Amino acid sequence: MIDLMICNAQIITVDTQRRVFENGAIAIEGNKILEVGKSGELMQKYTARRVLDATHFIVMPGLINCHMHLPQVIMRGVNDNVEVMDKLKYYIWPIQGSYDEEDAYISTQLGLLEMIKAGTTAFLGTGLHPRYGIGAIAQAVIDSGIRGVISKYVMDQTGYALDKSALHPGLWENGEESLRMACDLIENWHGKGEGRLQVWFSPRSVGGVSEELFRRVSDLAKHYGVGITAHWAEVQNNADYTLERFGLLPAEYAQKVGMVGKNVTLVHGIYFEDRELDILAATQTNICHCPVCNAKLAMGTAKVTQMLHKGVNVCLGNDGMPVNNTADMFREMRTALLLQRNLYRDPLYPTAAEAIEMATINGAKGILAEDVVGSIETGKHADIILVNTRKPHLIPIHDPTSAIVWAANGEDVDTVIIDGKIIMENRHVLTMNEEDILEQAERRKHKILEQAGVKVNHVWKLQ
Ligand SMILES: [Zn+2]
Repeated sequence: MIDLMICNAQIITVDTQRRVFENGAIAIEGNKILEVGKSGELMQKYTARRVLDATHFIVMPGLINCHMHLPQVIMRGVNDNVEVMDKLKYYIWPIQGSYDEEDAYISTQLGLLEMIKAGTTAFLGTGLHPRYGIGAIAQAVIDSGIRGVISKYVMDQTGYALDKSALHPGLWENGEESLRMACDLIENWHGKGEGRLQVWFSPRSVGGVSEELFRRVSDLAKHYGVGITAHWAEVQNNADYTLERFGLLPAEYAQKVGMVGKNVTLVHGIYFEDRELDILAATQTNICHCPVCNAKLAMGTAKVTQMLHKGVNVCLGNDGMPVNNTADMFREMRTALLLQRNLYRDPLYPTAAEAIEMATINGAKGILAEDVVGSIETGKHADIILVNTRKPHLIPIHDPTSAIVWAANGEDVDTVIIDGKIIMENRHVLTMNEEDILEQAERRKHKILEQAGVKVNHVWKLQ
């Protein structure tokens, strides 16, 4: 008797052979996948305590969001029409720099709920600060049932690239202390929640971190066997900084200070010249592409097509909710293709298959969990989503990969399984109190603006 069987499903496995089943089944025992095959065969072979009949569902690996700012979720929709640096300096950082622990906690709960409801089963979270109450955030991640990486900012300067005083004083940290707290966080929380919680380092952007501190982070990440994530080459100012200060392009500087490698996920990576892509490929550095955020803020478009051709591992991220505004990986997959096809004037590439790879198996590499999740195959942990296709915008299904990328949205996800456990069923999240979280987040919206002295500018005035 096994624990769980999903049958009668169209399955996109993203396994090594990229098999897609017309009428497939998945046998799950404990938190792992026992076997994937044809429904008829597996139904004969196993008896399960629980059977999910997935007729009319596409079943696929859970989506992996490789860039998420949990504390920013309750800033959703605050002043959309602002240039990226102004947005950070005048809105995002002052609001975060005025937070109390409850603000950050409610934002985190909302973000976790939103991700699970949109079929995200694992995420790479960046940018935690002591004022947010990091312990409660770590516990919230564990309790939600999701798989996640959290990371604390490390910094010893208050600037951002060439802008020396960009960061809000409420977010300033001292180098030694920020590094020690990041190490404490790893020692206390890494591997908790049956291994679902990982803790990494997130050094702030160039201008916020000295060369020496970057190197120490690199050494410590190796020492602890954890990853590093950092915003890199996201605006022209970043590239100007490394060139002006060190005579190096952003990827050359990354290489010089130890910010490259298999355990490093650099976010955005828009301002890389062609020859820098070879450095990323040779060092197996992961690039997290955030297409909706980049297009919304007119930041430019990362050379994802070229990166993929050169063998760079490109994964996808939602980024923060003030710059996106939803944590829906389906939108990221679709937007990534739209931007690349238009950038290179190529309607043939990338395809839906590449988009799904970026959101699943490439994402698993991006969070150092390639052997654990990212595909549906024997021995991997069961992080699986069921997408309901009985919808006018999804019927008929000629090709499930096309339906997922070109037509589906997060709201089409019906059931979410993480580590073998059903976390959401019939769109009802079993681990969280949805109504309570929505109510608290809505109630908090004025407080976080007032305490930071920030106003929302409306194009059409509210009456
Ligand atoms: Zn970000």
